[in-house]
Amino acid sequence: MRARTVVAILMLAACRPAPAPTPAPAAPARPAVVVDAGVTPVATPTVAPPDAAPPGPPVTTMTLAEVGLEATSLDRSVDPCVDFYQFACGGWLAKNDIPADRARWGRFAEIDEKNLASLKTLLEADAKWNATDPVGNKLGDFYASCMDEAALEKVGTAAIKPLLDKAAKVKDAKSWLAMVGELHKIGINVVWSVSADVDNKDSTTYVTMLDTAGLGLPDRDYYLDEKFKDKVDAYREHVQRMLALAGVQKPDAAAADVLAIETAMAKLTKTRVERRDPQAAYNPMDIKALTKSAKSVDWNGYFKGLGFTPSKKLIVGTPKFFAGLDALRKAQPPAKWQSYFTYHLLAENAFALPKAYDDEAFALEKVLTGVTEKQPRFKRCVAATSTGLGELLGKQYVDKYFPGQARSTAITLVDAVVKELDGDLSQLDWMSDATKQVARDKLAKIVRMIGYPDRWRAYDFTIKRDDFGGNQQRAAAFEVHRVLARSGKPVDRAEWLMNTFTVNAYYNPPTNNTALLAGILQPPFFGQDRGIAANLGGIGMVIGHELTHGFDDEGSQYDAKGNLVNWWKPDDQTKFVAKGQCVAKMYDSFEALPKQYVNGKLTLGENIADLGGVKMAFRAYRSLRKDATRQIVADGFTEDQQFFIAVGQAWCSKDRKEETQRRLTVDPHSPPKFRVYGALRNLPEFAQAFQCAVGTPMHPSETCSVW
Ligand SMILES: [Zn+2]
Repeated sequence: MRARTVVAILMLAACRPAPAPTPAPAAPARPAVVVDAGVTPVATPTVAPPDAAPPGPPVTTMTLAEVGLEATSLDRSVDPCVDFYQFACGGWLAKNDIPADRARWGRFAEIDEKNLASLKTLLEADAKWNATDPVGNKLGDFYASCMDEAALEKVGTAAIKPLLDKAAKVKDAKSWLAMVGELHKIGINVVWSVSADVDNKDSTTYVTMLDTAGLGLPDRDYYLDEKFKDKVDAYREHVQRMLALAGVQKPDAAAADVLAIETAMAKLTKTRVERRDPQAAYNPMDIKALTKSAKSVDWNGYFKGLGFTPSKKLIVGTPKFFAGLDALRKAQPPAKWQSYFTYHLLAENAFALPKAYDDEAFALEKVLTGVTEKQPRFKRCVAATSTGLGELLGKQYVDKYFPGQARSTAITLVDAVVKELDGDLSQLDWMSDATKQVARDKLAKIVRMIGYPDRWRAYDFTIKRDDFGGNQQRAAAFEVHRVLARSGKPVDRAEWLMNTFTVNAYYNPPTNNTALLAGILQPPFFGQDRGIAANLGGIGMVIGHELTHGFDDEGSQYDAKGNLVNWWKPDDQTKFVAKGQCVAKMYDSFEALPKQYVNGKLTLGENIADLGGVKMAFRAYRSLRKDATRQIVADGFTEDQQFFIAVGQAWCSKDRKEETQRRLTVDPHSPPKFRVYGALRNLPEFAQAFQCAVGTPMHPSETCSVW
């Protein structure tokens, strides 16, 4: 079960895949290769580079490993100007297969595996009862209850029995609404979602939000686009088997009913691209207006049932969905809704039910992502404990595994990148002084959260060592209530939206803050002993990416305080939109699977952030090294080249075909390979570093630039 807070997060990672054709291959004639700061040729792709000294300070020769990069991940047989991703990652791609329990394997996943092992060590120690450590006992009991598969077999569906009974008795509008409320209370967002988040037009206050939800497949497109027909068929069969396990009569007909309901809902659900428009998602209503829209719902009773008082202003993400809600409910007889509720209750709880249910849930995952094996139970129990008690575990992780020095080093790097972005904003040739001033002010006000929170959240719910199902429900209910109860209250700008051990970073427009999590402050992104070029190409790129989100097509609609206020002079905005269109068009041409392309509009915000992020990180690296008395050449690669190799090697990654298809539909990030191509082919400094001639794939004659 998952309690989900709906937040406008713009993540860096959680992204994308590998193989597939792309920027035209075909190596054009061009001087053999490589160089240093844009001057002396140092190497050919296939031969070890000579140690010709580049101009500038005296050279210190090192190996790539010594500066924090991986020589064995390279493929030197490839011309970096033709296919830089293959050049940086070819060796890695050749020696890495996707593990059976992963849909994607890349650098983020590598670190994630390492973090999982650390968290396992912590939780196994916690699971040994310690009378003097109440926090450890909470974590340990939760984790131990999850690992106890025998207990789950023994109790069967007891933990959800009262809800299953209730679902089977849905007979009219009232019992239908009661069921929706019961499931929302434990974080299962059937039919619609309810949350409380920052008011986009009054960012000092949390506001209650309602939007579409309740689909079992990854996106509305799966129901409506013919190309997903095989997935829909597999889903129907899966729903049928899941319902059969629970003893539902005529499960084949019941599964068809679930599909009919979800398809009707999908038609009222916005596309992913439409959902990226924050203005269109901002539809304030009060309860009276909402009642006018969905007449048969007793909204006051619904909110009361959830145990909180909503804000006076409710923000409705998709008004047409709520306007169609009465008709949607009435179009399907109660028996069909019984199947729908029952299925979602089982599917969301499958991990806490006997193995047969969990196996069935995995059968669907296999179809949708291509994974062939379930994750070992400990990994899933670490994840479940993280969901339930994230900040307790986060604190243990930071105390034991995060070196304090890393935080201060990371702060230095963030400062350096901010400085470059500020310099960039002040010198743009396409923006008026008035708009520049507001943009710089917004940048200056971005709150930077590095590593871990200064204050940790408490968790107050009962945890029983022999009741995993109950623990999950209580954890979810606690989180749902925590979020909803803040409706109408002041915004806590110091809240962290991800767990510290997550391998990720984010920027959140309505709070104008960015977080760089302890979990990602590791190689191949970051290391205390790595060269400056390698650190800036890795974590510097991540930092630049997140900061640029404040100025992407979506983030730029928010002001320094996090309000949706247009601070752009019209002429500047017109130019900005045109620059974005250039980027969208370029990414639209990237073919990730045969005849399946990156969606330039869906990924525009991330791509703008990638382009700006690499550029700012590069400038920051240059500026941190400008007074260096020695220049470092590593295995023949200049420092500029080391920077770009770090960028490329951060994205080495492979996806299963099904996963690529799923992500092309749902993921706002481009596949990793295209993140490398897209960001670097638009950057003159890259072409200069590797001496790529105009017209080579990595140095096209037409490029895009936003920031
Ligand atoms: Zn991002």
